[in-house]
Amino acid sequence: MQQTREGQAELSVVVPLYNEEESLPQLVEQLLAALRPLQLGFELVLVDDGSRDDTAKVLSQLAATVPELVAVLLRRNYGQTAAMAAGFDASGGAVIVTLDGDLQNDPADIPLLLAELDQGFDLVSGWRHQRQDAAMQRLLPSRIANSLIARVTGVRLHDYGCSLKAYRREVVSDLNLYGELHRFLPALAFIEGARISEVKVNHHPRRYGESKYGLDRTFRVLMDLLTVWFMKRFLTRPMHVFGFGGLAAMGAGLLIGIWLVGEKLLLGADIGDRPLLLMALLSFLTGVQLFCFGLLAELQMRTYHESQGRPIYRVRGMVRGSDS
Ligand code: UDP
Ligand code: MG
Repeated sequence: MQQTREGQAELSVVVPLYNEEESLPQLVEQLLAALRPLQLGFELVLVDDGSRDDTAKVLSQLAATVPELVAVLLRRNYGQTAAMAAGFDASGGAVIVTLDGDLQNDPADIPLLLAELDQGFDLVSGWRHQRQDAAMQRLLPSRIANSLIARVTGVRLHDYGCSLKAYRREVVSDLNLYGELHRFLPALAFIEGARISEVKVNHHPRRYGESKYGLDRTFRVLMDLLTVWFMKRFLTRPMHVFGFGGLAAMGAGLLIGIWLVGEKLLLGADIGDRPLLLMALLSFLTGVQLFCFGLLAELQMRTYHESQGRPIYRVRGMVRGSDS
């Protein structure tokens, strides 16, 4: 029999679930098939992120027959990052594996990730080298996003969006997650000094239900990318961040001013007659100020989250598995 009580599991598999009632039974079956032969103590920490369908009910039913299962039921829908954080907090394993609950990731790949972790890494990320998603809506934007993220964060992964990942516990317990930041776990971990690797994994088309995300996510991801970049820079040399922008803005203003004065002196053009240039200058400077203000506010938010110790989720209940 596998050990599943808190603190005794070596491996915790954390899965966020939002309206995944159809996938759930197969997911658990595949996970058990992949993990039981490994001869290690594991637990399946399945988090119901306030689903509107019967995910919570199916979880409770499964708990009656699967002793390795730990069902965490959140009070409402908090989003994938918060659901994952709830799973991390409820889990006890020294190693944590995350994946999606929609059967797009293949639990059979988990041993590959664990083997790579054993090679001396702190975080191993899946790379969906044959990704099964729509080309224009998903593949192209994510290619662009991946190269952008790799450049900005300095962590050269091929596939940031792959949820199938393995971590040493220290890696996730050191991080304060909120917003959409689960996507940047490798970057955040890297900032904290984690050794990161990548292995190729399978990817299947979504069989049941539909993707929970729309286009608004692209925008949120971009903003989060800015935040991560900001953290990386700001926490060491704030002046390198603001100094450059400030100097560039001042330089531009000065140049335009010189140009206007030069035009007046040499060609006799009237400065007062050039509202467009002034408008351009004004909006540019306003943009710079707003941008910096946004970054500062973002940092303020982090301070707020971290100082308050206020959880980004609330738990309604927990059901621990048994085989009675
Ligand atoms: N998910 C969640 N809360 C949400 C949205 C999604 O827990 O508010 C879960 C979802 O059930 C799935 C994973 O996060 O297990 C990834 O979601 P999805 O498959 O919709 O994303 P995609 O694969 O389209 O990126
Ligand atoms: Mg999916």
